[in-house]
Amino acid sequence: MRMTVLASGSKGNSTVIASAHTRILVDAGLSCRELLKRMVQSNEDPAALDAILITHEHQDHVAGLATLARRLRIPVFLTEPTHRAWVRMMTPRTAPTYAQWLDWLAQEKAQKEKEALAAAQASEPGAPSASRPSGLGAQDQTASLSEVGSCPTESAAATSEEDPDALLELEDVPTTKPDPAFLPAVEYFYSGTRFSIGDIAITPFTIPHDAADPCGFVFESESIRMAIATDLGYMPPNVKSALRRIDVLLLESNHDLEMLKDGPYPWAVKQRVLSRVGHLSNHATAEFLARDYDGGAAFIVLGHLSEANNAPELALISAEQAIGGRMSLLGNRILLAQQSAPLAPICL
Ligand SMILES: [Zn+2]
Ligand SMILES: [Zn+2]
Repeated sequence: MRMTVLASGSKGNSTVIASAHTRILVDAGLSCRELLKRMVQSNEDPAALDAILITHEHQDHVAGLATLARRLRIPVFLTEPTHRAWVRMMTPRTAPTYAQWLDWLAQEKAQKEKEALAAAQASEPGAPSASRPSGLGAQDQTASLSEVGSCPTESAAATSEEDPDALLELEDVPTTKPDPAFLPAVEYFYSGTRFSIGDIAITPFTIPHDAADPCGFVFESESIRMAIATDLGYMPPNVKSALRRIDVLLLESNHDLEMLKDGPYPWAVKQRVLSRVGHLSNHATAEFLARDYDGGAAFIVLGHLSEANNAPELALISAEQAIGGRMSLLGNRILLAQQSAPLAPICL
């Protein structure tokens, strides 16, 4: 099995998990272009990907999702609540704001006044010049109506009177923008229920984070087990037990508590990060590694490090101290995943 962390951090997350026969992209939190670039850099063939798997709908995990899935024409695996939340996020708000509505009312009133004036001028005998302003008014009206999109079929109907075939052509051409939340295929999984993509068995587990239905994953193939657990406010018992007998563990070590407290984030954001549905601090990660971790992994990859509120050396020292004497040439090697470049593939 192979794990290639393409990016990790609050500006984008994406990891390839591969077996001999199956390749899965976990999260697509960079632009499609950047994801393709990093896959090529890491010798991961984008065309060979079988599926995209999503942990949760935050932007740093889905930024390139729609474009990449459409481009590669591969299915996206996520939970139904995550899918719904993502669709809501991707679908632009269509209801007007109060200010827009007032604006629209004012425009409508002005238009009516203009029409009334034109009609009055036209009805006056001996005023041939009135036909020109009236014609202009009609054009203005068409333009303003098409701008607000209230009469999208008007031009089609007008064309159909002239040429019936033109309407058929127009019907084929989408009159509205393509659905931004369109995905070639969507497959739902359920947290706690094991499923498979190709020859990789996947066990999703619930993580405490402020998203619709956030999940971590254990991947298993050829008796090797790899896990991803980032974006969690604390380590609940279900996560601790999911992370047993793991060979390669991508684990969050998001922030240094002191740096976060003194750092640039606004108070509300600090509260969010520190909360039970925020992110794991170096301290919390070290506590897990010292007390609950079974010590069996070949590699522990520290990920989702905050650029503003953490320093790679601090995260590393904290985890190394927690692992203590269990570090060896074959076990518990600690690596740091990066935001700006892919990590060398880890193969077991
Ligand atoms: Zn998140
Ligand atoms: Zn995240």
